[in-house]
Amino acid sequence: MTTTPHDTTTSPEADWDAAPGLLEGAMKLTLGPEDCDLAYWITSVAQGTLRDRGVTGHHRDAGVPGFLRAPGPLREALVLEFGFRGLSEEIATRLLGHYVPIAPGVPEMEFYSTQLIDEARHARVFRNHLVELGMPAATLVEDIHEMAADYRRRVLQPVEDFTLGIVRDQKDFIGGVAVFAIVIEGVLAPAAELSERKWTPLSPATGEISRGTAIDEIRHLTVASTLLKDHLAAHPESRDRVLEIIRDGARLWDEVPDREFVIHREELFQVGMSQHAEAIGDYEIWPGVRMLDTTPEQRYDMAEQWTGEMARSRLEYMGLPLDALDGPGPGATA
Ligand code: FE
Ligand code: FE
Repeated sequence: MTTTPHDTTTSPEADWDAAPGLLEGAMKLTLGPEDCDLAYWITSVAQGTLRDRGVTGHHRDAGVPGFLRAPGPLREALVLEFGFRGLSEEIATRLLGHYVPIAPGVPEMEFYSTQLIDEARHARVFRNHLVELGMPAATLVEDIHEMAADYRRRVLQPVEDFTLGIVRDQKDFIGGVAVFAIVIEGVLAPAAELSERKWTPLSPATGEISRGTAIDEIRHLTVASTLLKDHLAAHPESRDRVLEIIRDGARLWDEVPDREFVIHREELFQVGMSQHAEAIGDYEIWPGVRMLDTTPEQRYDMAEQWTGEMARSRLEYMGLPLDALDGPGPGATA
């Protein structure tokens, strides 16, 4: 039996302490499906990233502050955020079930199997965090579905239908890779980055859950980019089709009313943040800007700006024109 480095050690990009931030990692790292195979996932993710954090997504020493278990705007903002994200991850998991049978080779099949488990786990840790905030465990799934019904119907369903049309109906694997990486995760990743930055000074447990999922997203985004880049190099004739899917997906995302849902919870966060100003102090949400000085719109706009930067860096890496997302879409130049 041969011993490869990832038999016994955690790769740095999956190491809890050494992994880069989501934006930096997604823009600078290069990983392919051969790097992130099933053995990598078992050793570097299950036994690496998730060591001591497999059950709740956070270390047992990272707690939830009492004020997040009591009614108030901050708790309400977190319940909405993690409830909606939990549901989005559940839908992502179910969508990924369609990728596994149409994966062209074993590396792609293994990678999408691990991504499916990752997203199922994200759904689980976001959802179960709400029990740590005091929501009843017995009716949790029903309560989230009820709370997020409008969001599901108006924001998630159109994206879900679009993706199903590509992966389930047309069985187009590479088209599905494009829509998942550029549209679905390309938009959700900056929201995840914002979440990690927002909650870290307020709740160690919440910050760790977001951090752990962000480490996984680095892998999802970079491997998908490599799959697309290699596919386009080997099949230049598929370029127009991939571009068309990215354009249609970006246009669709531009049409769904996600902003009103995000701004609503950011407004609740704003009220709660000022009530807990002493816990936040001079904490900077991004370099040079104190979180206490930001507004809901500024935080939303920053996530949009990150979305554009990430999309452009990945399009460039794949050799696709940067205007693929313009006109307007998640990558539209601000
Ligand atoms: Fe996820
Ligand atoms: Fe993901």
